Amino acid sequence: MRKKLAAGNWKMNGLKSNLGEVSALTEAHPSPACDVLLCPPATLIGAMAEAAGGKLAVGGQDCHMNESGAHTGDISAQMIADAGGSYVIVGHSERRADHHESDLIVRAKAEAAIGAGLIAVICVGETEAQRDGEQTLDVIGEQLAGSVPDGATAANCVIAYEPVWAIGTGRTPTLEQIAEVHDFMRNTLVARFADAGNGMRLLYGGSVKPSNAEEIFATSNVDGALVGGASLKASDFGAIIAAL
Ligand code: PGA
Repeated sequence: MRKKLAAGNWKMNGLKSNLGEVSALTEAHPSPACDVLLCPPATLIGAMAEAAGGKLAVGGQDCHMNESGAHTGDISAQMIADAGGSYVIVGHSERRADHHESDLIVRAKAEAAIGAGLIAVICVGETEAQRDGEQTLDVIGEQLAGSVPDGATAANCVIAYEPVWAIGTGRTPTLEQIAEVHDFMRNTLVARFADAGNGMRLLYGGSVKPSNAEEIFATSNVDGALVGGASLKASDFGAIIAAL
């Protein structure tokens, strides 16, 4: 049985003054049925972990592939763990686009995350042009093959399907389209990892909000969500947690 996961990605949003959302969330949902994760900007990982007091998991939004060294501005997976994080998102489409991260880089980051004892949330997703060109499953298959390390297990790895065109746009794929990709991902992961592939949680991400969460969570092979905008407010994210 895969335990569902509600993961929030604050992206480049959030100051210390926003940490009240964490206590509001844990007070409103003291014993959620699913795992709950918030990934704030790196500056807030330590403070958020403290504010969460173990009632929800905290993670990073990216990590460097190396443990330490001359990489100005980067943070390592060890640093995220040291600050109290237990997960890290790697390969988000915004990182793939803004920082030219290839599947090879994403895989190395996922390996670094796993090596540091973190759970890697590996993101994949097609662009609108690729969807229109009927290349979606080819693209997802290639990204999974390239980005997911050989050492991935159900315990150290989560996969997030995030169609690029659905992120922050208010547009979502149809439930049939989500099911098609999630079923494909499950089959692909089982073919490569056998039982471990069956145990890996597959999140859907892209314009998830309280009003569409329930139907998305009821879709085949959807084990939770990676939520951007709607994770910033405890009221919205709480409603999504309650739908899982
Ligand atoms: P969104 O972002 O929920 O704001 O569409 C999702 C994501 O990028 O993880």
